[in-house]
Amino acid sequence: MAGKLKPVVSINFEVVPFEKASIPVMDRGFLYGDSVYEVVRTYRKTAPFLLDRHYRRLLHSAEGIGLRVPFTLEKLSKHLADCMAKSAHPDHYIRIIVSRGEDDRFDLYPEETLVPRTILLIDKVKVFPKEYYEQGASIALVSVRRNLRQALDPNIKSGNYLNNVMAIMEAKRKGAADAVMLNYENCVTEATASNVFMVCGGVISTPQMESGILEGISRGVLKEAFAREKMPFEERRISRDEFLTADEVFITGTVKEVIPITKIDERPVGKGVPGPVTRKVMDLWRREVNRILDRT
Ligand code: PMP
Repeated sequence: MAGKLKPVVSINFEVVPFEKASIPVMDRGFLYGDSVYEVVRTYRKTAPFLLDRHYRRLLHSAEGIGLRVPFTLEKLSKHLADCMAKSAHPDHYIRIIVSRGEDDRFDLYPEETLVPRTILLIDKVKVFPKEYYEQGASIALVSVRRNLRQALDPNIKSGNYLNNVMAIMEAKRKGAADAVMLNYENCVTEATASNVFMVCGGVISTPQMESGILEGISRGVLKEAFAREKMPFEERRISRDEFLTADEVFITGTVKEVIPITKIDERPVGKGVPGPVTRKVMDLWRREVNRILDRT
């Protein structure tokens, strides 16, 4: 990372120089992906955007794997402000990780005595290519299936992202920017780090939670905005075939915000350019962000 500003790293609420920051090899986050995490961002140099919602989702994920989050929202918020003050970037990408802690032997069973470890990484916010927003991005409908809810619920944001890693590797091999995964019933779930929406006949649809997805914070913000704006919107099962004949498709996530999808498996979506509803949603997103920032 020569020449670049180094991320600010905090381990158990102590800021550590980037070069010295390390995790013991016996940490269960490393050994088994036995951890949960969140990615938050800032806008306009203000406090992390919707940190309260991300914290609640972190608690939900931790509960899903029987892990205790060892800090309150207040403590996190205050410490993040201190960390951000040490970073020269105008806006930040913030990764909050809680691992189950360090084992003293090789045993899958996590003893009650384990002490969770908190790692915070604060870097500059990642910027996606401008063309994605202007012309749209491509996705591949990959053969890798999204984890079964009863096996590892995608609504637990754990440190085990292998399912998604394999999916994006397949997508990149096919020349696409991202992957969309189906579930075992051939229904659409989500992209590797974003939620998926489609537009058919003016109605916006997104897979319901039962399809096996992460309950995205951006998805939630838009859902509330659609209701307020009285835009036709539904959460339901979306079959592969319906998805492939959608008029418009877009994906959402904390860092990427709203990206139009104009190609699926090399075939154009609708006219092959970002459609009118997607453009409206992109505008609505921008307004929502500003409204939320003005309120806080
Ligand atoms: N699905 C998955 C699998 C993700 O990793 C993410 C990114 N956290 C999302 C959806 C989008 O969620 P959010 O809007 O909260 O960033």
